[in-house]
Amino acid sequence: MTQIKKKNSSSFGILIHGGTKIKKVGKNSEIDEIKKSLRSSISVGFDLLKKGKSSVDSVEASVAVMEDGGVFNAGTGSCLTIDKKVEMDASIMNGKDVSAGSVGMVQGVQNPIKLARQVMERTDHVMMVSGGALKFAKLLDMYIEQNEPNQKLINKFNILIKTAKNKWGKNSDLLAKSLDNPYPDQDHGTVGAVAIDREGNVSAGVSTGGRWLKMHGRIGDSAVIGGGFYADNRSGAACATGKGEFIMRRCLCKFACDQMQFTNASVSSKKSITLLTKQFGKNTGGLITVDTKGNFGIAYNTNQMPIALIDSKNEKIKIAMEYPKLI
Ligand code: ASP
Repeated sequence: MTQIKKKNSSSFGILIHGGTKIKKVGKNSEIDEIKKSLRSSISVGFDLLKKGKSSVDSVEASVAVMEDGGVFNAGTGSCLTIDKKVEMDASIMNGKDVSAGSVGMVQGVQNPIKLARQVMERTDHVMMVSGGALKFAKLLDMYIEQNEPNQKLINKFNILIKTAKNKWGKNSDLLAKSLDNPYPDQDHGTVGAVAIDREGNVSAGVSTGGRWLKMHGRIGDSAVIGGGFYADNRSGAACATGKGEFIMRRCLCKFACDQMQFTNASVSSKKSITLLTKQFGKNTGGLITVDTKGNFGIAYNTNQMPIALIDSKNEKIKIAMEYPKLI
């Protein structure tokens, strides 16, 4: 097996995001909550890198903290399907040997990102979905019964289902004929992390509840290799958030990684989001990247994308609701 490993990386670090915001978050309490969650998530991931752990360990741990926090659209904060159910997607990829694991449409699992890693490391497969993923989770004692949505999510569901015509378009015609008011564009609260470790290995991890009022059985970009995530030591690692149907159709993260072979993480993320915007319009997504030199990239076509970044150059966590306003 070919393993591309870059030795003596000049720096190591991790960049995480909490999805994109179509409208700027106005409430200070909400901003504080987002920043607090990002801070605890990135601290865990960076501590592991400092201890010499791999970028895979780092992105897995960081994403798991965001899944547990309930602040973002992942894990306990996952949005609901049109049937009022939680169905989560998650994935992880190791650039050292381009090994990958993803789970789609999972229920009854506390940390889908951890299950995705188990798919990558303990099976011969790359992607497991629905009942099969559940059976696998049971085998590993990772099954926790149904993920019950909390009251906040149920309230949001009740508002959306009653008063809004779903922006899904075709789905609305099919399922929601009785809804006639305009359905506001929804934020994309998927969480993701890209990291580079001391050995110069890059990784990406993503987790999401998908999109509000999606159809039962819909799987988005966050479970699809090359779409919502990609990592390869030949180029870099990327993970995306936004309208998964568009992101998948552009194989956005593979595109971003391919770009990094010739340019840096920053240029690659901008080019990728420009491509997405040109084809599908604004408010469709965001992307974070890391290249194999340890440069990070951030780009999005919405108003905000909460992010946190830390690397070994100055070991200071930078958190922002908007890039480049990193504080
Ligand atoms: N990309 C996710 C999906 O389509 C949604 C998000 O980013 O919030 O499943």
